[in-house]
Amino acid sequence: MSSPPSGVDLVAVRRDLEARRDRTRARVAALAQRPELGSAQGFGKRIGDGTIEAVSRLTEIGVGESLERGLARTERALAKLDDGTYGRCDTCGKPIGRARLLAIPDGVLCLTCAESARQVRPPRRR
Ligand SMILES: [Zn+2]
Repeated sequence: MSSPPSGVDLVAVRRDLEARRDRTRARVAALAQRPELGSAQGFGKRIGDGTIEAVSRLTEIGVGESLERGLARTERALAKLDDGTYGRCDTCGKPIGRARLLAIPDGVLCLTCAESARQVRPPRRR
């Protein structure tokens, strides 16, 4: 067993992560239940309300994807709490800094690995 990161209250972290996971699951479920989400309605064919709806639908799909990514990360952090590797980087195995853990309780990568992961796959923004 690796020792837990000092100065980090693992009981509080687990409580926070579980609450976050449950909240995120509820939001994902709510989005998934919307029957129009993902239906094959073209956009750009109509202007006016239809276009606005299509855009907001795209936004919802984007929100859903980032929710699922966040959920996976939270679940991974909880799994690391269970197996005693919480606070260690998933990629290199080095300890994640305490300040970083406090800032990002569901972070599973150290700053170095998180930075290089970002550089490999830069976010596309317009
Ligand atoms: Zn690392």
